[in-house]
Amino acid sequence: MNDIIVQKFGGTSVADTEKIKNVAKAVLKEKNLGHDVVVVVSAMGHTTDILTKMAKDITPNPSSREMDMLLSTGEGVSIALLAMAIQAQGCDAVSMNAIQVGIITEKIHSKARILEIKTDKIKQHLEEGKVVVIAGFQGVTDDLEITTLGRGGSDTSAVALAGALKAKRCDIYTDVEGIYSTDPRIVPRASKLKQISYEEIMELASNGANVMHPRAVETAMIHNTPVRVRSTFKLDDYGTLILGANEMEIQKPVTGIASDLSRIRIVVCDVPDNPGTAALLFNELAKENISVDMIIQSYARKDLHTNDIAFTMEKDDLNKAMKVLEQIKPDLKYSKVFADEKIANVSIVGAGMIGKPGIAAKMFKTLANLGINIKMIATSDIKISCLVDSDRANDAVEALHTVFGLDSKEIAEVKGDLPNI
Ligand code: ADP
Ligand code: ASP
Ligand code: MG
Repeated sequence: MNDIIVQKFGGTSVADTEKIKNVAKAVLKEKNLGHDVVVVVSAMGHTTDILTKMAKDITPNPSSREMDMLLSTGEGVSIALLAMAIQAQGCDAVSMNAIQVGIITEKIHSKARILEIKTDKIKQHLEEGKVVVIAGFQGVTDDLEITTLGRGGSDTSAVALAGALKAKRCDIYTDVEGIYSTDPRIVPRASKLKQISYEEIMELASNGANVMHPRAVETAMIHNTPVRVRSTFKLDDYGTLILGANEMEIQKPVTGIASDLSRIRIVVCDVPDNPGTAALLFNELAKENISVDMIIQSYARKDLHTNDIAFTMEKDDLNKAMKVLEQIKPDLKYSKVFADEKIANVSIVGAGMIGKPGIAAKMFKTLANLGINIKMIATSDIKISCLVDSDRANDAVEALHTVFGLDSKEIAEVKGDLPNI
């Protein structure tokens, strides 16, 4: 059997029929190099947004099962059209949806995790010389309910397929030329990175860099799958290679900066300072599948015996969370709750910051010089995040980008040849 390459094309890459024909060319280019090719595609252009809007026009709270039934149709259109385009260019191809493949997920609508991927039918088609075009974003439960993997989830479909098929590489083709030091559409002087570690892109992706779905990075890390993020419109460009941190030479303390405007901050005031209160609060939220990121509990003053607990979560979960908080009010005994929607989480990320003092201080000083107030702070080994006012997010990113030496003219090129992966 030949080496398998998994290629994934996002919504902008398949936005119209001309672009789909262009994608077919990219597929044939890889096939002609002697590889077996599995292609994963997203819905065309803004289809997923348009379908979501249609549902919201019908009812403000559509059921999550019907949302999955609706949104999964978008990818169904692009797989059939791409298979036709490949066939029209003289190569045998077959499209498959998640049910036909057997992309088995948890029984959770709108953000299911993949549990297992059956590979027998895909391998059979590959052995017959066909290109296999698979719908991204979709899954199916073992009792045949349709699920989806969350917005941007086609990346995860592709990387999980690459892992299951033991592919040589997974190429994420998109509308930019690779992974940059920050979103190049917001900061034009962002630098393109030749390489980045799984750990760093994981932090960037989880903190708002939507160039890759965080779960896709997690999956690539587990299977140690080499991933290249590259341009659909410049096929000869190498893009950015994602690989293990130990294989990389660390050059700067900060590799990239991300900002995330999709979060909301909830503050629960005057919670009694007793064992079990945080457990009760976060357990009830978890039962509703609400995932929480930054959590801060204030210092409990001895005379008051209460704490304030603040946390951030996805804006879309606000109604669900408020309902949970109302239900547990008699047990949690807080005084009031407020939600702060005008927030942005700005993060600096870099494996080079480990054990290097002064990085946090430099970040806080930069924000202070701009008069930007920090509402919350969270850190990991390779990340510092600050919650700031949403309308100052871009100012913060631009200033931090310059202060940490990431502007395009300053970034050092990787010396020597790029790895032939
Ligand atoms: P696709 O439809 O191909 O999945 P996405 O819109 O999901 O494309 O992801 C690509 C976009 O990610 C880019 O257009 C860019 O605006 C954004 N992005 C955010 N952060 C980064 C970054 N650090 N490097 C590159 N692109 C980024
Ligand atoms: N079509 C889905 C979305 O727009 C999945 C994806 O593009 O990755 O979120
Ligand atoms: Mg995407």
